[in-house]
Amino acid sequence: MDSTQFLRQSILRFAGSPSVSRFVHRHDKTLGARRFFAGPTLADAIRTIRQLNAVGIVATLDHLGESVTNVEEARVQADAYVDVLHAIADAKVAANVSIKLTQMGLDVGREECLANMRRIVDAARVSGNFIRIDMEDSHHVDATLDVLFALRRDYERIGTVLQSYLYRTKSDLERLIAAGIPVRIVKGAYLEPESVAFPQKADVDRSYLELVDTCLKLGHPVAIATHDEAIIGAIEAWVKERQIPRDRFEFQMLYGIRSARQRELAAAGYKVRCYVPYGTDWYAYFMRRLAERPANLGFVLRSLWRQ
Ligand SMILES: Cc1cc2nc3c(=O)[nH]c(=O)nc-3n(C[C@H](O)[C@H](O)[C@H](O)COP(=O)(O)OP(=O)(O)OC[C@H]3O[C@@H](n4cnc5c(N)ncnc54)[C@H](O)[C@@H]3O)c2cc1C
Repeated sequence: MDSTQFLRQSILRFAGSPSVSRFVHRHDKTLGARRFFAGPTLADAIRTIRQLNAVGIVATLDHLGESVTNVEEARVQADAYVDVLHAIADAKVAANVSIKLTQMGLDVGREECLANMRRIVDAARVSGNFIRIDMEDSHHVDATLDVLFALRRDYERIGTVLQSYLYRTKSDLERLIAAGIPVRIVKGAYLEPESVAFPQKADVDRSYLELVDTCLKLGHPVAIATHDEAIIGAIEAWVKERQIPRDRFEFQMLYGIRSARQRELAAAGYKVRCYVPYGTDWYAYFMRRLAERPANLGFVLRSLWRQ
């Protein structure tokens, strides 16, 4: 494992500690957590989406939250997504939604989660909006795909995410392709053991390109979600060489990361979707963003030092 991967895993491991969580919450402003999400309210998110839409970037909205452990809270979280879908339709902004199933009660029970997701699907059906089910840690992959396939029987406009760091992903992608289910390819953001995930970044990157290549060759709808310039450059070259129609894929990036590059790709005529999180439950999301780039940790430490 190289030093970057080691640092990444260390940050993810520390993130689970209650004292680290207390510290980060106490210093959230200094630590710059806010630059990764639109704000605490749905109105903040809609305002951000309007600004993105104005420069040709569409959005996917994430109401921050995960790992819900009781039925009541999962229902409240599902209600929030129903409100999000209504707000997107009312505001007439170009955006869909991204949802984590542990926020919808996946750890409480499959049936509770399915019931919550069905309410969200019903709200999406009214405006014909698309639902993306985010992928969480490897313990949840089977259960997530199971709920996805159950929902897909009643609603076509639904897709999910696969992670290039997992050994299993090639065969999961074959299942999604066979079922015609749209996929977002990411590298993967969770702490995973070597028994399930590539420990070396080079293998994760190679796997990423192979998965995207498979989708592009078959004309399977794919969202290429990365900030990695080497991957973006390779895709741009493929698209030109092979004359791949631009409606077959879209680039996706996270809010607050490489914003200028997002605008540049949109201006060059690519479809670009920005992942816009909002809400108050930002801790786990923020810690994953810190872990992805050691320089972010440097920023955090310098901010604390200046205080
Ligand atoms: C739209 C979208 C949706 C996602 N959904 C999921 C999901 O459902 N499940 C999941 O496990 N993961 C998800 N991820 C996260 C993903 O798995 C990676 O952890 C994340 O995208 C970083 O990997 P990378 O592809 O950008 O490449 P990396 O090799 O990690 O980074 C390449 C370069 O991008 C820049 N960069 C990357 N991350 C950051 C950062 N945090 N801050 C500043 N610069 C950065 C740096 O310049 C870095 O050198 C999502 C990512 C995106 C863009």
